[in-house]
Amino acid sequence: MLEFRTGGTNVLETRVGNVVQYLAEGVKIYCIEVESFPNHVTNMYLVLDGAATFIDVGFNGPQSQKDLARGFDIINTSFGDGVDLADVANIVITHGHGDHFGMLEYGKLKGRRVFIHPLDSWVIRDYSGTYQNWKRNMRELLFEAGCGRDLDQIFPVEQLDYHISEYDLVEVVDGQQIINGYEVYHTPGHSLGEICLRVGPLMFLGDHMLSITTPHQVPTSGWQGAGLMNYLHSLRKVAASGVDLGLAAHENAIYPVSARAREIEHFHMRRLEEIRDLCRFAMTLYQVTDEYYRGHPELIQASSLDDLPVDDVLLALEEIKAHLEYLVDEGRLCVTGVDSGVPRYLAI
Ligand SMILES: [Zn+2]
Repeated sequence: MLEFRTGGTNVLETRVGNVVQYLAEGVKIYCIEVESFPNHVTNMYLVLDGAATFIDVGFNGPQSQKDLARGFDIINTSFGDGVDLADVANIVITHGHGDHFGMLEYGKLKGRRVFIHPLDSWVIRDYSGTYQNWKRNMRELLFEAGCGRDLDQIFPVEQLDYHISEYDLVEVVDGQQIINGYEVYHTPGHSLGEICLRVGPLMFLGDHMLSITTPHQVPTSGWQGAGLMNYLHSLRKVAASGVDLGLAAHENAIYPVSARAREIEHFHMRRLEEIRDLCRFAMTLYQVTDEYYRGHPELIQASSLDDLPVDDVLLALEEIKAHLEYLVDEGRLCVTGVDSGVPRYLAI
């Protein structure tokens, strides 16, 4: 058992199997770990304070359904809380990525009230349309990077079996209070409509902050309103909230939140300097990305970008492009060769 001091109160953490209980004044929270994909776990949080609310649901698959059922068994038998999946009335989706909303297609979750920011709700409103947009963006990114790879065997799925009419969709904005006074913090960066949610003395962080990984960055060119500049702004906003204990959608609890925020910001500042150094000579996006990861073999599972599956290449290109954009905005890099369709980045 662990104890945290946050927002002037104590929170007790107790783990049994794939469930972690957080006990605070007036609110009980269960984190149920479900496997969304092989080696990728989503923390599904169940908040009990008179209302029963999920914060994020995993990707829908046989293993995540099994993990969820096992979690409820543990909540009932080991923790003695008589709660059933059918009691959950609300689902808050922190952002529109599949490992956070995919389980909306699970029959046992249909019909609930679903809260999401309008900048990410289009993913739920029109999944196939969003998928086509995403694919177009990714094709453009590969082209402008100058890497000659095609979108073969990409990871996301084209169809999800749910219909928006099966849910009561509620769009939420920054500063809004929902359910039992939970406060919405709009934190664009990792996605346009990412939200964090303050519940009593805790902050639900979605993918905005993670305890080990630095959350993936996307460039504003594909996702206007996202980008590293906005992300760092959101990071400072959550750090300034005064909440010390953060519960993220993957990995472990974050404590204290402000220290982890500083660590993540420092990481990006260092990455920006390294990338600027690489641009002593004019480089394409693909060349900068390849050089950067060759210098950081601990960060990729291959010796060069050429050996990675295309969906991993896309993630790497997005991450590095978000940093290049930041340096261009700061006037520390210039862009040449735009006419050719494959821009090059050069340090000023
Ligand atoms: Zn995620």
